[in-house]
Order: sequence, then C-alpha cells, then structure tokens
Amino acid sequence: MKANASIQLYNRYKNNESALEVARQKLVERKQLPSPSRLCGYQYENVCLAGHFLQKCTCGKPVIAE
Ligand SMILES: [Zn+2]
Repeated sequence: MKANASIQLYNRYKNNESALEVARQKLVERKQLPSPSRLCGYQYENVCLAGHFLQKCTCGKPVIAE
C-alpha cells in the first residue's frame, strides 16, 4: 500500500511538472507573437490602434485611463 501511495504521488508530481512545462512554453510562445495592433503598425484605415502604447499613437488622442 505504501508503494502504491508513493507511485501515485510520483505520478501526480510528474503530471504537475509536465503541465507546468506546457504552461511555461505557451507563455513563451505568446510573448513571441506580435499583437495584431503591432502587425498593423498601430494603425488601420486611419484608425489609431496604439491603445496604451503612447509612443505608437498616431491620432494624438489621450488614452482613456482606467
Ligand atoms: Zn492614438
């Protein structure tokens, strides 16, 4: 019975580790993906898509602060 518990604990730990690794890899992939706004050059059909990126703002409108 003790051996079984150890195996279960090991399996649970292993599953957590792999899940953590998957989550970590997804986070890395997400960071590497450019945002749609960035792909459009923060501008689409004369509409400013800068949002919170004030440096990229082309319309000069103040960003609505939350
Ligand atoms: Zn703007």
